[in-house]
Amino acid sequence: MTIFQKIIDREIPADIVFEDDRVLAFRDIQPQAPTHILIIPKKPLVSVAQMDESDHEMVGYLMHRAGLIAKEQGLEDFRLVTNSGAGAGQSVFHLHVHILGGRPFHWPPG
Ligand code: AMP
Repeated sequence: MTIFQKIIDREIPADIVFEDDRVLAFRDIQPQAPTHILIIPKKPLVSVAQMDESDHEMVGYLMHRAGLIAKEQGLEDFRLVTNSGAGAGQSVFHLHVHILGGRPFHWPPG
């Protein structure tokens, strides 16, 4: 079981900013920007690489909700990131989108 499943199940605490029946959003424990929130599906998908067609609506909703949360946090400009696979920087194998804002971001990312 991943640490994010334990947060969903309330086995470990998190600073939750949004929750409904499909998604949960909470503050990253090691923030990389003044605002750094993770939004995850309650369904235990590993990453976007494991999605199938039955996940389209839910992940579309998750992305829409990520944008709404960014705006609620007062962010005009923000970055959404999802890492898929350890080589891309994924360390928790439960799909999550990072919502990052509050400082300038550069391109290409590191
Ligand atoms: P990634 O490297 O893309 O898999 O991102 C995983 C993120 O989860 C990292 O930014 C970690 O800081 C964050 N993280 C790990 N454990 C926790 C936790 N218990 N609560 C909040 N964020 C966490």
